[in-house]
Amino acid sequence: MTYKIAVVGLGKIAHDQHLPSIAKNPTFQLVAGVSRNSKLDNIPCFETLEGLIESKIAIDAVALCTPPSVRLAMARQALDAGYHVLIEKPPTPTIGEMFDMIDYAKAKGKVLYAAWHSRYNQAVDEAKHLLDGKDISTLKVTWREDVRRWHPNQEWIWEPGGFGVFDPGINALSIVTKILPEPIYVESAIIEVPNNKATPIAAQIKFKHADGRKSDLSADFDWRQTGEQTWEIEIATVDGMNLTLKKGGTILIVNGKTIMEAPMEEYEMIYARFAELLKSGASDTDVRPLQLVCDCFMLGRPKLVEAFID
Ligand code: NAP
Repeated sequence: MTYKIAVVGLGKIAHDQHLPSIAKNPTFQLVAGVSRNSKLDNIPCFETLEGLIESKIAIDAVALCTPPSVRLAMARQALDAGYHVLIEKPPTPTIGEMFDMIDYAKAKGKVLYAAWHSRYNQAVDEAKHLLDGKDISTLKVTWREDVRRWHPNQEWIWEPGGFGVFDPGINALSIVTKILPEPIYVESAIIEVPNNKATPIAAQIKFKHADGRKSDLSADFDWRQTGEQTWEIEIATVDGMNLTLKKGGTILIVNGKTIMEAPMEEYEMIYARFAELLKSGASDTDVRPLQLVCDCFMLGRPKLVEAFID
C-alpha cells in the first residue's frame, strides 16, 4: 500500500528532512504541499489547508510542519477531511491543546502521530535497554546550541507558544522520558528571557524522583553556544554504571567505552514508524516531554537577560 501524503508548512524542517525522507520511502507518495509563501517543483501546492481540502486531491495523510501554535486547528481541519496526521515536535503549545488533539483524532478514528525525532537513534534504544530496572543517581543534560544556525530569521520561536530554548530542549526531554526507567518531575528552574523577547534563551532545571530520594538530576539548555554544538545526556546509576549519549543521541558511551555510534536517520525512522501506525491504525502520542516543559514554565523563576539581536 502507498500512502498519499501532503506536507503542510514548507519551511526549514520540511525541506531539510520531511521531503527527502518521504522521497526515500516507497510507502509514501508526496502529492501536495501547503505554504503561504513557497511552492514545490512539479507538485500541486496550496496557500492554505482549506485550499488543499477543496481541491479534492486524494490524500491519506498530512505532515504538519508548521509552528506548534497553529497546529491544533490545522490538525482538526485535516482530521475532519479524513486525513491521518503526523505532527512535528513540540506537538502543541499547551498540554490542553494536545489532549484535545488526541481526543479529536480518536473520535474521528484517524491516526495521530506526535513525532519526537530525537528518540529515533539506535544508541537511544540501547541506552533505554541498559537502564531498564536501574536506580538513577545522576542525570546531567547539556543541550547548548546556536539559535542563529538552527532558527535563522524565525520570529515565531520568540513569541508566546514558540518555546524559545525549550524548542531544542524538548528534544533532550523526549530522549530522557524514553530511556529513564521511571518518571522524573521538575523541582525548580531558572528561565533566562532576553529583555526584548517573550520566550527563554536559556534554562537551568533541577528534577526530582517522585519519592524525593537523594539524587542529582539536572538540565542546562542554552541557545547562545557558537562553534561546536553540545547535545549530551550523562547518567549514573546507583550500582555504578556511567552512561553518556553524545551528539544528540547518536553516540553511546558506557563506563568510558564507546559502544555504539550510528549515523543519524531520525526522519527516515519517523516515516517508517508512521507507515507502521497507518497500517495498524494506532496512534502514537506521548505527552511526557511536553508535560515537563510546561512544568518548567509553571515552576520556573524568570530572569531577564540582555536583549537578543538576530
Ligand atoms: P520554519 O522554517 O519557520 O517553517 C515553518 C513553516 O510553517 C513555514 O514554512 C511557514 O510557511 C509555516 N507557518 C508559519 N506560521 C504559520 C501560520 N501562522 N500559519 C500557517 N503556516 C505557518 O520552522 P521550522 O524550523 O521548519 O520548524 C517547524 C517545526 O519543526 C517546529 O515545531 C520545530 O520545532 C520543528 N523542527 C525544526 C527543526 C529545525 O532544525 N529548524 C528540527 C526539528 C524539528 P509559510 O510562511 O510559507 O506559510
